[in-house]
Amino acid sequence: MALMITDECINCDVCEPECPNEAIYPGDEIYEIDPERCTECVGHYDEPQCQDVCPVDCIPLDPDRKETREQLQAKYEKLMGA
Ligand code: SF4
Ligand code: SF4
Repeated sequence: MALMITDECINCDVCEPECPNEAIYPGDEIYEIDPERCTECVGHYDEPQCQDVCPVDCIPLDPDRKETREQLQAKYEKLMGA
């Protein structure tokens, strides 16, 4: 599953540089995650880096973006151009 940022986001900017896939960007009101680029950090790290650093815990899994680990790995490889 890709992750999503909820409206509890306080725009602290901490998560954006932590994303290894450059999936996080400033939206109109709050930060957003591009689900085409979020691999739950599969391929890079054991844990989602953005969740680790978010001070208000507002980055849950997006229930509308269900993906298996294999699909996430395939997304990672595509992003890396492998
Ligand atoms: S889980 Fe990883 S890949 Fe997805 S947005 Fe967070 S830091 Fe980026
Ligand atoms: S770390 Fe959390 S609160 Fe800060 S910008 Fe990212 S999603 Fe928003």
